[in-house]
Amino acid sequence: MPQPKVALDYERCDPEFCEDGICAAAKACEKKILRQETPGEMPDLNPSMCRGCTDCISACPRDAIRLMK
Ligand code: SF4
Ligand code: SF4
Repeated sequence: MPQPKVALDYERCDPEFCEDGICAAAKACEKKILRQETPGEMPDLNPSMCRGCTDCISACPRDAIRLMK
């Protein structure tokens, strides 16, 4: 079965909604698949190693991350 991956909706993401501009979803991702270079910037997502745990989805206050089927 293919591993579920997540996708980031850049139209919904707004780092100003995250405390100190720090991406809550990137902070929640233990595997660092979702990374933010600098507070206030949108995170980058490299889903190739994503394990589909959905921790980032729960953490994002803007509902900007979705599981892709
Ligand atoms: S937690 Fe969501 S809204 Fe905040 S920076 Fe990350 S992806 Fe964007
Ligand atoms: S689903 Fe889990 S492993 Fe994948 S980016 Fe989100 S927190 Fe990281």
